[in-house]
Amino acid sequence: MNFEQFFADRIADLRREGRYRIFADLERQAGAFPMAKNYRDGQVHDVTVWCSNDYLCMGQHPEVIRAMTEAVQTCGAGAGGTRNISGTNHYHVLLEEELAGWNRKEAALLFNSGYVANHTTLSTLGNTIPGLLIFSDALNHNSMIEGMRHGKAHRHIWKHNDVADLERLLAAADPAAPKLVAFESVYSMDGDIAPLAAICDVAEKYGAMTYCDEVHAVGMYGQEGSGVCERDGVLERVTIVQGTLAKAVGVVGGYIAASHALCDFVRSFGPGFIFSSALPPAIAAGALASIRHLRRHNELRLRHQERAATLKARLTAEGIPVLPSVSHIVPVMVGDAALCKQASDDLLRRHNIYVQPINYPTVPKGAERLRITPSPLHDDAMMDRLVAALVDIWANLGIRKAAE
Ligand SMILES: *Cc1c(COP(=O)(O)O)cnc(C)c1O
Repeated sequence: MNFEQFFADRIADLRREGRYRIFADLERQAGAFPMAKNYRDGQVHDVTVWCSNDYLCMGQHPEVIRAMTEAVQTCGAGAGGTRNISGTNHYHVLLEEELAGWNRKEAALLFNSGYVANHTTLSTLGNTIPGLLIFSDALNHNSMIEGMRHGKAHRHIWKHNDVADLERLLAAADPAAPKLVAFESVYSMDGDIAPLAAICDVAEKYGAMTYCDEVHAVGMYGQEGSGVCERDGVLERVTIVQGTLAKAVGVVGGYIAASHALCDFVRSFGPGFIFSSALPPAIAAGALASIRHLRRHNELRLRHQERAATLKARLTAEGIPVLPSVSHIVPVMVGDAALCKQASDDLLRRHNIYVQPINYPTVPKGAERLRITPSPLHDDAMMDRLVAALVDIWANLGIRKAAE
């Protein structure tokens, strides 16, 4: 086989479909959020970033930077091993305690990313609980899907956020079989939120465990910010809360929070936990400082929601088709891969505004969009420029408006 030709041909297919991915070459500017330097065509441009998942700008917060810098000075760069073999640093222990308390659970377990947390936990449960049935929301993230696929559990897919469909599948399953219901709280592409209490009601009725991916809610919902489970008063009812330290917490890493026995089980049997070196101590120190700050500062969350609501209202008033998001995520529908990429290119080249196009397979074909994520630091003047730029591009490219 001509391997090189094979690779080149598959990439050519992607280009033809208009969904070849080009990364924006950025240099973030600590203290100047949401501004960044953008390297393109041999030049450097200042751009306003409108699509970061550092939702609350915590990646540049002085307390986080100080905690990380101090930890690098005291502990050095890397952890020096897996958690089991010399790699457990005191900051990992403190961070796991903080995560457990934040999520009102007995324990928490750190992973190197949210992706690994989902993959390892779901595959380990699937491989070790005999006859486990997993009931998975149709729009669950790839990391959950891959984890479930990798495990031996039989998987039932329920219609997105449709509790009646979930109950129909639960009722039809063997009453004696162990069951797990897996879902997210905030769905990151549409910005909708799962009916958590109703999901817990039916899961409890059928004796199922619950698994909630809070990745796009961590830091942003609830009085102390642990997520939508906290906001909706269901933390005590959800068996396993999963999250990331890489989005609103602003650093990197993933976790689950659950009972002591469950965390101890995944710690002891999960390959993705056991066989990978621990996060650097400074990462754990930075995440710890970030979470402690987030717990005390609900005003950040209020400002964040206000910014998102304001942007949605302003775009809607201009006829720009915003999806009916009930969260901080502002998805703007384009509905065509090439147009979506063109809109993004024009924003960057003509307006120095960076919003990455979201194409298949992240969203279905025909549902290509610009996914805008306003933060507490996107001020009114930046918003004026964004709205004007989008109105200009919609007219130039003839993209469909909301009312048409
Ligand atoms: C980003 C994401 C993950 C993975 O988290 P990382 O920490 O970035 O690996 C998991 N679930 C969802 C829904 C995500 O969007």
